Amino acid sequence: MAMSNIKRTCLGCGNQLPESFLNLGKMPLANAYVSPEKAGSPEPTFPLAVAYCPVCHLVQLTETVPPEEMFTQYLYFSSFSDCFLTHAREMADEFIKRFQLNAHSQVLEIGSNDGYLLKHFHRRGIRSLGIEPAKNIAAQAQRQGIPTLNRFFNAGAVEEILRIFGKADLIIGNNVLAHIPGINEFLQAVNACLRPWGVVVFEFPHLKAMLDKIEFDTIYHEHVFYLSLSALKVLVERAGLQLFDVTRHRVHGGTLRVFLQKMQKQPITSNVETIIADEVAAGLTDPERYTSFSRDVASLKQQLLSLLHDLKAAGKRIAAYGAPAKGNTLLNYCGIGSDLLEFTVDRSPHKQGLLTPGMRLPIRDLSYLVKTAPDYTLILPWNLAAEIIAQQTDYIHKGGSFIIPVPKPTII
Ligand SMILES: [Zn+2]
Repeated sequence: MAMSNIKRTCLGCGNQLPESFLNLGKMPLANAYVSPEKAGSPEPTFPLAVAYCPVCHLVQLTETVPPEEMFTQYLYFSSFSDCFLTHAREMADEFIKRFQLNAHSQVLEIGSNDGYLLKHFHRRGIRSLGIEPAKNIAAQAQRQGIPTLNRFFNAGAVEEILRIFGKADLIIGNNVLAHIPGINEFLQAVNACLRPWGVVVFEFPHLKAMLDKIEFDTIYHEHVFYLSLSALKVLVERAGLQLFDVTRHRVHGGTLRVFLQKMQKQPITSNVETIIADEVAAGLTDPERYTSFSRDVASLKQQLLSLLHDLKAAGKRIAAYGAPAKGNTLLNYCGIGSDLLEFTVDRSPHKQGLLTPGMRLPIRDLSYLVKTAPDYTLILPWNLAAEIIAQQTDYIHKGGSFIIPVPKPTII
């Protein structure tokens, strides 16, 4: 595919971006599941390539799709993963304690999904407001009594939030930072909604985990940024916020939780310096690290394809488990379709009966896996592999085995 010769500038610092280090080609949107009636017609595709800005260290897509194309009707309900729900409850408990939240406190969550997190604050009498752009998901939260604004969080939303809710003591954004092309305006809007002594907490997948574990399938159009702490610090300081703490978590394959403030109330912990030093030592501020990642990705693709082709040649039947967005990057980039996999199964009734974007694998309900008992099942949401394998004892008793694709294709 010929790269267009438009001069691309960094979405963070505005400097000119170098050539992408990884080009996955043109792909459909990872959450654009296809209904069987539309199986005969082609779907829109968009270039998917990633570049590193040597000036501010921000790793980003070279071309972005407008968020309105992706987030207004969304099929991912947070409430469908057990480990994610436990993580959310622990998070709420920790913040209530650490920041001494009480009946006078206000919590604002950006990208609040179906209210999976805010309900823990709400139940304890802490005034809460969620912002959720997907209409169907915002409606789900409202039905459960969680006050939710159905719109994008941006400069235009600030006025409405301040009018109906006011400023917040705690602003939370889990897995939203990476989605926002206008990141500088977004962070300024966050600052505008924060009380002087308030705290902001963001969680995002750590770029270091993606590089180390070759989690290239987390690259899709919704994820504009692949964040290191080094890049994040530059971004938040530009918006008048100070990074005062950071912790690592295992959810989503390796996540950073960062804590920001605008007034210097909380002391800066040594975690900040430790993780930045760790990133520099791991090469995250050096373009060469990204070139070597690109080689790792090409090699993983070859290994996975040979494994699947060998099994198929030996007469084995193979299916997949899960229909997460990242699975679609993996399947489409590697070209793994119905010639290799018979179907996939997914827990979410919202996905069952549809086809995966691009490769068009049929998505069945979970019982179909045990009923048809394929010899091997490729786990697409590899971050939940332990949980999935523990649940699938019936399938294993029928002789089934699992394949985990990253960091190296492995049969379990
Ligand atoms: Zn930059």
